[in-house]
Amino acid sequence: MPDHSNNAMTPFGEIHLPSKDYDEIKDFSSTKAVDAEHKKRWFIHEMAHVWQYFAMGISVACRGVSLAIKGGYDKKHKSGRLMAYAYDLLGADARKEFKDFNIEQQADIICHYYLVQYERQFVLRTPAFNYLLSEQANRKYILREFLVNPTNKKLKSEQQGFNNTDENIKNFKRAIQDKFYRKGPNFYSL
Ligand SMILES: [Zn+2]
Repeated sequence: MPDHSNNAMTPFGEIHLPSKDYDEIKDFSSTKAVDAEHKKRWFIHEMAHVWQYFAMGISVACRGVSLAIKGGYDKKHKSGRLMAYAYDLLGADARKEFKDFNIEQQADIICHYYLVQYERQFVLRTPAFNYLLSEQANRKYILREFLVNPTNKKLKSEQQGFNNTDENIKNFKRAIQDKFYRKGPNFYSL
């Protein structure tokens, strides 16, 4: 599967890399490697899934399937990121706690925090990552308990979908506009 998608996977607390990367990357912490910061970012994201699995008791594989069914790895957010990963700490997600983010958002919040905190020069010279800078204060706030005690069970992700994404809001507005409302599993027209 990792060879097929060219992505790493960490479904049961062990990181599975695409074979090529497994063979080539001998040390993720090496600063001399080509794309060293990208490799570190990647590693920290996957290590966050290891943390979710062992410290929080989350079935990362099930959560991943759940996100996949909802199109999280296919559909794109307006930011250009895949829906499963997208988050907006200056907008829709500004008032949330860490538990309110899904497993991919949590893993990205942790690795983005790392990048801005410890690889600042890389973030500054990489236009695609510039936007991370302005969110860092909020990221630090959301991670405040994680940074003190990462075994705190309050940090366990409760979100299985994409939160109040623009798409959800749009669908909700459309439902109101079209005078549909939902009661339990059924839809009614007004
Ligand atoms: Zn992931």
